[in-house]
Amino acid sequence: MDADMHEFQDSEELNQKCQRLEREVARERAARRAAEDMAEIRLRELYINQGRLELLNRIAGFANDSNSPTHALQFALNEICEHQDWPVGHALIRVDPGDDERLEGTDIWFSKHQDVAFPFLEASRKIVAWSCASAPGRLFLEHIPIWTPDIYAQHAFTRAPSAARAGLRASISVPVIMGHELVGAMEFYLTEAVQPSKRLMNILLQIGMQLGRVFKRARHADMLSKNALTDPLTGLPNRTAFESEIQSAFELEKRTSEYQTAVIYIDLDGFKLVNDTLGHSSGDALLTAMANRLRFVVETFDHEAWVDRVFLARVGGDEFVMLIRSPDVREVANDIANEIHKCLQPIHRIGLNDVQAVASIGVALNGPEYQNAQELLRDADVAMYEAKANGPEQTYHFTAEMRNTALARLDLEIELRHAVEISAFELHFQPIVSLSNRETVGLEALVRWRKEHDVLVMPDDFIPTAEACGLMVPINTWVLREAARSAVRFHASNSQNADLYISVNVTLQQFQQLHFVTLVRDILLETGANSKWIRLELTESTAAANPSHAARTIRQLNAMGIKVSIDDFGTGYSSLSYLQTMPFDTIKIDQSFIKRHSDKSADWSFVLAMKNIADSLGMKVIVEGIENEFQQTELNSFGCQFGQGWLFGRPQTEASILAETCPPLSESPHSAHMAFEEPK
Ligand code: C2E
Ligand code: MG
Ligand code: MG
Repeated sequence: MDADMHEFQDSEELNQKCQRLEREVARERAARRAAEDMAEIRLRELYINQGRLELLNRIAGFANDSNSPTHALQFALNEICEHQDWPVGHALIRVDPGDDERLEGTDIWFSKHQDVAFPFLEASRKIVAWSCASAPGRLFLEHIPIWTPDIYAQHAFTRAPSAARAGLRASISVPVIMGHELVGAMEFYLTEAVQPSKRLMNILLQIGMQLGRVFKRARHADMLSKNALTDPLTGLPNRTAFESEIQSAFELEKRTSEYQTAVIYIDLDGFKLVNDTLGHSSGDALLTAMANRLRFVVETFDHEAWVDRVFLARVGGDEFVMLIRSPDVREVANDIANEIHKCLQPIHRIGLNDVQAVASIGVALNGPEYQNAQELLRDADVAMYEAKANGPEQTYHFTAEMRNTALARLDLEIELRHAVEISAFELHFQPIVSLSNRETVGLEALVRWRKEHDVLVMPDDFIPTAEACGLMVPINTWVLREAARSAVRFHASNSQNADLYISVNVTLQQFQQLHFVTLVRDILLETGANSKWIRLELTESTAAANPSHAARTIRQLNAMGIKVSIDDFGTGYSSLSYLQTMPFDTIKIDQSFIKRHSDKSADWSFVLAMKNIADSLGMKVIVEGIENEFQQTELNSFGCQFGQGWLFGRPQTEASILAETCPPLSESPHSAHMAFEEPK
């Protein structure tokens, strides 16, 4: 019995031991399985992460080599959707950064089953996502990927019907960021609401940043090409852009005869004066103001139904051009030119100065004779030149004769340059007399160009060209110096007339020189001429180009003892109001007001009006172009103090004036002109 009991107890213990061992083994097995599972999960995660990193690397690599946001977005959508097995991806772009905060749908998309998703993609293409309104719009604020588990729960999800038909349920919106700016977005749509891991969201964020670098590069390239086509001062297109615009117009005209093209060339007359007297920043301010006024004209006409296109560009310092396309281009060009003249008229306030800039306009209409843009532009320029020569504020249409004139002008310019080099000029002097007793009080110095031994060119035949090619400054400087020398000689030989003065004409170009007053003073010092012996004559347009500068300069000249007259008075286009501000000594009434006045039927009303103006401003009067006794008697009876004209003497050389004993060698302008025209 004892033995049996023992045996039983032993087997019981064995059993329990076995059970314990079995439990331990089971526990170990479970622990091992858990460890194995964990290892597998880690391995899988590692694998997944590895895959995502490779995805990021691939997209970053593509982005590095790309300048095209479109290509880079397409590549990223394909890669991400394929990698994640997402059915739909779509890109949005911020079309006009800096303006409204809105993303716009694009044609950049990925779809696993195109036929199913097509209506949804069509709707997405047209979508505009405003800031905050929906998931892609919220990216403006959040700048991180946004997970939307139920797209239909969103406020204003306009694409809901087509999304439902495609079986879409959830979405992930990924920002494309450039610095701190949202420039685009990718949206991915899922059929099941499986929330993406934080790690995936982080990778998507980094992909968005990589794509942002492509946008940055593209914007930079865009800016460079825009700079190449834009005038940096006014922001208008430049010459290159304009030429390519004409070229496109040419091509369009070849395809359709409905529209004709014209080019308008606009050159500002008062600009150089502003630049030289008020400095370059004032010049820049004037150009910018001008550009804005011209822009306004473009906007006005661009909206007209009969105008197809108006394109404005700046092609040079103060030169602007417009291309016009219209079925009735000649008329439209004239209307626009008139509008330009009108819009430039109001005075500009540049700093403390009032400035007026008027324009000369040339128009060239396209025709079969033009092969390229430059030719049309050149002829509009030629017409502008013609307008300037007949200016101010003129519009001329190009004609074939103008081309010949332009060529002749070019020849004249070459000859004139040579004439300036060798000082082939001479001064003739015309007396200015007191109308009461015909006593000579002064002499007007009038320049002539001794072209050849017996060919004398009159000023009207070369001054406009000299002015246009910048030669009037050296010519007038020569005139001023020679006049001062002559004054010294006259006074040395004619001691009875101690107040005799020489009046010198000054052109706009010379008057606008920064150191004009200094030049006059230096010439007086150099020649020994008394400042009372020299007077200056300015035309109305010279004075009106920049009234405040003119007033200042005249005051400085007055302070030196030099009196200034206003020449050809009454022929100018400007208002009289500026006259009050300018201390002119004398008004020279233009000869056109007394022309053909020879008997009692003569109408003196204009002359009297001008005499009244002079009286009220305390200025004296010289009447120009007096040719007969009747004119002298009448003008004298009106109280006009001085006169000038053939009646008292034609312009003659210094020698003939000095040789009192000799009969005056009067010069006939007509014969001099003939001599110029006669081939030698
Ligand atoms: P202006 O300053 O008005 O000069 C008067 C012009 O009228 C002169 O013509 C003169 O010869 C002409 N004249 C004078 N009396 C009579 C007359 O009784 N009847 C007619 N029909 N004409 C008369 P000119 O010498 O041909 O000069 C023409 C213009 O050329 C001048 O007009 C002046 O604006 C300009 N000019 C002449 N010399 C110079 C110069 O040295 N510098 C500048 N900047 N301009 C000058
Ligand atoms: Mg004069
Ligand atoms: Mg005159």
